[in-house]
Amino acid sequence: MGPRQCQVCDQAQSKYKCPSCYLPYCSLVCFKKHKESPCVKPQPSEAKTTAVSESIVEKPLVVNETSHVLQKFQLEAIASSSEIRDALNDKSLQELICHIDCSSNADNELDKAMAEEAFRLFTDKILSTINP
Ligand SMILES: [Zn+2]
Ligand SMILES: [Zn+2]
Repeated sequence: MGPRQCQVCDQAQSKYKCPSCYLPYCSLVCFKKHKESPCVKPQPSEAKTTAVSESIVEKPLVVNETSHVLQKFQLEAIASSSEIRDALNDKSLQELICHIDCSSNADNELDKAMAEEAFRLFTDKILSTINP
């Protein structure tokens, strides 16, 4: 390969190549100018498809712990239970649940809440509602 022109200014002979796209350039000034717009490694067209699917994989996976999620009919059973609605009228219970909900360490708060009899009774009611 003979000497090539700088692809940025098109005036001087290129001495370097962009590490990203291999575009020949002559000087730091031209390199900076080139880097003003994003450049990517030239890829064959089939490789592009791989890049796209890779970016999909990179998305954070939503872990769906189905086993811990209540079924719709269970939620409906809870919502329609007058016993549970009555229990939820209790101010201290509301605060407990709110506390668990807002906590960054819900498991820990749940453990603490389980020490409260009102909360234990409440969870018992829920369990007997969803698992008759
Ligand atoms: Zn140049
Ligand atoms: Zn480049």
